[in-house]
Amino acid sequence: MSDHEVGQVRRFWEGLGLPGLVDVHTHFMPERVLRKVWAYFDALGPLTGGVEWPITYRHEEDERAELLRRFGVRAFTAMLYPHKAGMAQWLNDWAVDFARRTPDCLHTSTLFPEPGVETYVRRAVEAGARVFKAHVQVGAYDPADELLDPAWGVLAEAGTPVVVHCGSGPAPGKHTGPEPIARVLARHPRLRLVVAHLGMPEYEDFLDLAERYVEVRLDTTMAFTDFSERLAPFPRRALPRLADLGDRVLLGTDFPNIPYPYLHQLHALERLELGDAWLRGVCHDNAARLFGLPESRPSQGSPGSPGSQESRESRES
Ligand SMILES: [Zn+2]
Repeated sequence: MSDHEVGQVRRFWEGLGLPGLVDVHTHFMPERVLRKVWAYFDALGPLTGGVEWPITYRHEEDERAELLRRFGVRAFTAMLYPHKAGMAQWLNDWAVDFARRTPDCLHTSTLFPEPGVETYVRRAVEAGARVFKAHVQVGAYDPADELLDPAWGVLAEAGTPVVVHCGSGPAPGKHTGPEPIARVLARHPRLRLVVAHLGMPEYEDFLDLAERYVEVRLDTTMAFTDFSERLAPFPRRALPRLADLGDRVLLGTDFPNIPYPYLHQLHALERLELGDAWLRGVCHDNAARLFGLPESRPSQGSPGSPGSQESRESRES
């Protein structure tokens, strides 16, 4: 692990007067599933878009969680997702156990269009799931599938955020793009949909959805990095819209499955020059509010004196 990078990441949020970061898009999943995901990236599987994708943080699970803590990530998620029917409940059971042994992970669940989905989604919400993940590209299903409709209803009613990979990056799927998920929102306008990867590459279509539905949010995962800007550049003309939606943009990174250092995602946001207030919201406060974490207190977290309770806790863990 890089002490140098740890120091740089901490200086980033300390400099903003934050008590740390909240990262809504990190991957933890059963070990053999994660190994398969890594093997897929190594082999440049078709859904990677065929680009070189070296995984930067190929560590053991406990080391990965510990590194996030050392970075000062106060809360993170365990984005896991099935690629076929009959797998979601098993993943959800694993996630219950992971959340129990990882208190700074927001208990994450997933779903798939299959009989019984409403029941297990409801059960997961009742068991304390804080966030869901749905992967329209890998799962290759229509998010507006009838089977999923009652499950979206449960999540909308509970106000539980659901991070959905629904954009067509890095490679399009049969049901990716703004149109299928827009049909879900038309039926469930209060669904707390978090559009992963800022909707890459259909950024502006997903900004349209966020402007139309007040509960729609966007996560920054991989957006604006050198890697993504080469493949799917964010249109500069849309930056003012992103600034206006500042309270609904959430830091996400795709840690550990990223082909560059964690710090690069933070710098990629900083160099947009949307200002410190925007960065504070994106990197911490917006997600802290959404998940009911204590908000940042700038007066206690002045640069160079990381004296807040939270940063002490994260250093001790
Ligand atoms: Zn991801």
